[in-house]
Amino acid sequence: MGLLGNLLAALLVGMLAVMLASCAAPEPTPIEDATSELRGSELTQRPQATPPEPEPAAPEEPASEETPAITETPSVSANAEALYAELGITQLFFDDLQHGDKSAPYQKYIVLHDTEGSGSPENVIYGWENNGNRIAAHFVVGKDGTVVQAVPLDQIGHHAGWGDTGHNSAFGVEDESRDDKIGTTFFSNAYLDYGMNSHSVGIELVHAGGEGDYPTAQLEALDKLIAYIDAYYGFQSSIIAHNDWALSNSDTSPEFEGYLNNYKSARSYKG
Ligand SMILES: [Zn+2]
Repeated sequence: MGLLGNLLAALLVGMLAVMLASCAAPEPTPIEDATSELRGSELTQRPQATPPEPEPAAPEEPASEETPAITETPSVSANAEALYAELGITQLFFDDLQHGDKSAPYQKYIVLHDTEGSGSPENVIYGWENNGNRIAAHFVVGKDGTVVQAVPLDQIGHHAGWGDTGHNSAFGVEDESRDDKIGTTFFSNAYLDYGMNSHSVGIELVHAGGEGDYPTAQLEALDKLIAYIDAYYGFQSSIIAHNDWALSNSDTSPEFEGYLNNYKSARSYKG
């Protein structure tokens, strides 16, 4: 009986220990398990949602940084910036001389003009602003080589106006709604085509036809200005005179004819 009593006592103690253990243990554990399961599910759901986001986003970011630099905004190259600085170009902008979007994809021509008058480039531009016709070229080149910009390159300037009927197709330009045409009025059935402004940069040389040769400083500035425009766009626009577009127009002058041919063939007054 002594052994049995000891065995019974041991069994009782063992059972009590098991009961105590099974009573004490369950209470805290399910709570911890429940919360850790919830946290676990939140944690496992979030990582499932988040990793796909950064993974596709990461390759997209460098791609989207590269693409606009090449296709959308014309990145002014270091060479263009250097030429602009070398020319010492100042800007004299007026909102009412800007007539709509002319971003890089639309650029095709550089149209050369004479002002048919005298004065500094600044005075020429103030004259344009004050006469109310809303006409202006992008750049004015003075006799001494001073260059002032009147219209930003990404804006349409009214400088070429109406061209000979049929010239839109001859020059591969279109009369588009980008040009607000404010200040423009129809004047002749012989000049029905209006696509040049939307596709060109205008340069005015301070010069009146018949007054003699163009100073070297002015021609050298024109060389650099054309080089700047080429560098800005990253391609060479076709060079024409205003009277190529509108045949009865008086500019550029007859004394510019030799230089014009040199510009067309070699982009320099020297040829
Ligand atoms: Zn002109």
